[in-house]
Amino acid sequence: MRTKAAVLYAINEPLVIEEVEIGDPKDREVLVRMTATGVCRSDLSAARGFGRPHLPVILGHEAAAEVVKCGPGVTRVKPGDRIVLSWSPNCGHCFYCLEARPTLCEVYTEAAGVGTLWDGTSRIRTPGGDKIHHFSQTSSFAEHMVVPEAGCVPIHPDIPASIAALVGCAVTTGYGAAVNDANVRAGTNVAIWGIGGVGLNALMGAKVRGPAMIIAVDVNPEKEAVAKRFGATHFVNPGEVNDVPEAIRALTEGRGADYTIECSGRPEAIEQAYHSARPAGTVVPVGEARKEETVTFPARLLPDEQKRIVGSYYGGGVPERDFHQILGLYRRGLLDLDALVGETMPLDRINDGFRMLDEGVETRSVVVFE
Ligand SMILES: [Zn+2]
Ligand SMILES: [Zn+2]
Repeated sequence: MRTKAAVLYAINEPLVIEEVEIGDPKDREVLVRMTATGVCRSDLSAARGFGRPHLPVILGHEAAAEVVKCGPGVTRVKPGDRIVLSWSPNCGHCFYCLEARPTLCEVYTEAAGVGTLWDGTSRIRTPGGDKIHHFSQTSSFAEHMVVPEAGCVPIHPDIPASIAALVGCAVTTGYGAAVNDANVRAGTNVAIWGIGGVGLNALMGAKVRGPAMIIAVDVNPEKEAVAKRFGATHFVNPGEVNDVPEAIRALTEGRGADYTIECSGRPEAIEQAYHSARPAGTVVPVGEARKEETVTFPARLLPDEQKRIVGSYYGGGVPERDFHQILGLYRRGLLDLDALVGETMPLDRINDGFRMLDEGVETRSVVVFE
């Protein structure tokens, strides 16, 4: 079938809106119709060549959809089901799935690395018949797409599509960093760097656990009001203090924060997060730095200070489980996901969504499909 999509043909070029050919779903695959997709920084990074995506490719990985047609062997969903797409569908059988680390699934990782579905082939072609690559087995910048059944997580149909889409990436990534990887306990102190799409969700995730203090850290002074609206108790601007770890120790009886969660991906912020955690505290790097960037820790401090560094990817838990946990909290009014949704736009305006992300708008641009 033909469907409208936004195709990336070249790094640093605008996405091209055009009709593409989508093949039938094969074994344990599902044809879905997108209902909403967020414009996430990982899409923008890929369009700029970070991670060297295979081209041409259809980006988009933060999405809600409706099941249209099921391929052979599909048992989890049926046509008409409303779903959140997981951009890390997992096989359930490999070493990492059995280690309860499904976001490291070997089957998913191999296919994502070559831009295909699990069988190593693509279901997307240009009208001329050339192969187009899949992105994270989601490729949601398209009206229709074929995805693995394992990436389809059914949700209640009354959840607004734009909210469901954000749960597919930013919300789960940030929430899970605080709840699964940091595992914030009540009455503690948390510091969070980078108050963007992921950082705000880390903040809300931490708040659900009832900490005594949430310190937001961001170089943009406008983020102070945003962070406090979402539950931060304090704000530190690295541009306005001499030494960020010292500023955080001053707020935490000289010890440092019990948990530091770094969502900006800037190397200096990752180092600040390490030094701002108290001895035996937990440091959670979430933000993605560029491949060539490095961070430096004083070697002597690593054993002496007994800090735990816990890398966090897609929330560090089981995305399918966390989607439901998050939507349950949303229903109870404990996660203000509505406040995350910014401008909504048709797929034709996707390049505007990238531009707004680049300009640092505080809310998420969401493409909604008719
Ligand atoms: Zn994302
Ligand atoms: Zn697996």
